[in-house]
Amino acid sequence: DHDAVGWRFDNTYARLPEALHTPANPTAVREPKLAIRNERLAEELGLNLGSMPPAFAAAVLAGQDLPGGSLPIAQAYAGHQFGGFTMLGDGRAILLGEHRTPSGQLVDIQFKGAGRTRFSRGGDGRAALGPMLREYVISEAMAALGIPTTRSLAVVTTGEPVYRGTALRGAVLTRVAASHIRVGTFEYAARRDGPTLRALADYAIDRHDPELATAPQKYREFFRAVADRQAALVARWQLVGFIHGVMNTDNMAISGETIDYGPCAFMNAYDPATVFSSIDHGGRYAYGNQPNIAQWNLARLAETLLPLLDADSEKAIAFAMEVLEAFPTVFGQHWLAGMRQKLGLQTEEVGDAELIQALLSWMRQTRADFTNTFRDLSSDEMPAGEQYNDERFQSWHAQWKDRLGREGRPAGSVAERMRSVNPAVIPRNHRVEEALSAAEERDDLTALHRLLAALAAPFEARPDREGYQTAPPDDGRYRTFCGT
Ligand code: AMP
Ligand code: MG
Ligand code: MG
Repeated sequence: DHDAVGWRFDNTYARLPEALHTPANPTAVREPKLAIRNERLAEELGLNLGSMPPAFAAAVLAGQDLPGGSLPIAQAYAGHQFGGFTMLGDGRAILLGEHRTPSGQLVDIQFKGAGRTRFSRGGDGRAALGPMLREYVISEAMAALGIPTTRSLAVVTTGEPVYRGTALRGAVLTRVAASHIRVGTFEYAARRDGPTLRALADYAIDRHDPELATAPQKYREFFRAVADRQAALVARWQLVGFIHGVMNTDNMAISGETIDYGPCAFMNAYDPATVFSSIDHGGRYAYGNQPNIAQWNLARLAETLLPLLDADSEKAIAFAMEVLEAFPTVFGQHWLAGMRQKLGLQTEEVGDAELIQALLSWMRQTRADFTNTFRDLSSDEMPAGEQYNDERFQSWHAQWKDRLGREGRPAGSVAERMRSVNPAVIPRNHRVEEALSAAEERDDLTALHRLLAALAAPFEARPDREGYQTAPPDDGRYRTFCGT
C-alpha cells in the first residue's frame, strides 16, 4: 500500500496565496501501465517504489490513486515565449505536493500529462510516450553529467491515444524538481498584486536560499543568487554542448535546475549557430546564444522584482542593471573555469582564453565533434584520427602541451583528470531517436535501457559502448519538436 512507499508529503506551495495555484485532479485513464521507473532516484528520495505491485505502481504514477498527504494543484505562471508575453500555467502538469527526502530536502513531485487543468487553454492536458521517455533519458543523462536538472522518476502509459496529427500512445511522466518556480511564475505574480509577489519571493528564498531569509537586503541577494545559478547552469550546458531549445522565461527555473526537455538536443559538430528546434527559425535559442538569452530572461525577472529591490524605483533599477551587466562576466568566469578543466589546466594564465578560443575556432572550421574532440584530447598521447592530421591542429596541440608543461604535472594524471570532466557518452540524437522508436513502435525498451545504462556513467569509455560514442556523419537536418 501507500505507506510502504515512504511518501512524506507537505503542501507548502498550496498554502501560498490562491492566485498562484488552482486545484487540479488527474483525469482517469483507461489502462495505466508502467513503462519505466527509476529505482536509483527513488532510493535517493527515500521512496521504495519496488514495494508497490506493478499494477498499483502504475495506478499511483498515472495519478489514479493519490498518496496520502498529497494535494494536487496546477501552478499559475506566465512567460515570454520567443520574446512575446503570454499567460500560461500548468496546462498538463499536476503538482502533488512536496516530498521530504531522507536528507531533509523538499522536492516537488509532479505528474506531467495527467489531464486538463484550468490553464489548459486549447490543449488536451496529455503527453505522448515518446516525448516523456525523451525527457526521462535526457534529464537522467544531465544528472549523471553532474548538471543541475529536474529528474524523472517514472513513465506510465495510459492505454489511451493522444492526437498529435496522428494517434500516439499517451503517457504520464513523474517529474521531481527542487521546485517548479520559474521566472514566469514571478512574471505572473507581479501582474497580480504586491502581496502575492512578496509571498512568492519569500517562499522562493525559504526554499532555495534559506540563508538569505534574515539578510538585510534579502530580495537583492536573492536576485543575485538566481543570476549566479543561471550563469553557472548555462556555462555547464555550453561545456557539454547541450542546447535547451526553448529558453522561454517559463522554462527557466529559479532553482538553477535545467527544466523542460521538449526540443533540447546535444550538439555534435561544433558550431555556435546550431539549432535543432523546428520552430526556432531565427536561431533565438541557438547554442551560442544561450548565455545572452539567460541574461535577457533575468532582465524579465528583474522587472518583476523591482518593487522589492528598493522603495526608490531609480535605486531598484540601478541595482538590477548592475547585476544584469555583470552577468556576462560572471558567466565568463564559470565558463573559463570549466574550459580550463576540460583542457586539464589547474592554474590560470592570461593567455588561456585565447588558447581555448583557438581550439574552438579550429573545431568550428573543421566541424569537429564537440564531445569527441575533448575526449580525444583527454589522453597523454597525440589524438589519433584523420581530422588531427592538420597543421593548424598540430600547432595548437604543441602550444597546449607547452602550457601544460608549465604546470609541471605528469601527463598521465592530467589526462585522467580530463577524462573525469570530458564525457565519452552523451545522448547522441540518433541513438536517442532509435531507442524511442523501438519503445513507441514495438513496445521494446531494450535499446532504451542500454542507452540509459551507458548514460548513467558518461565518463567511462568502454569497448562495448563505442556505438554510443560515435558521432553521426551529419545531423545538420536533425529536428526536435516541443509540446508533444
Ligand atoms: P512548453 O512549450 O512545454 O513550455 O509549454 C508551454 C505551455 O503550454 C505550458 O503552460 C504548458 O502547460 C502548456 N501545454 C503544453 N502542452 C499542453 C497540452 N497538451 N495540453 C495543455 N497544455 C499544454
Ligand atoms: Mg514548459
Ligand atoms: Mg515542454
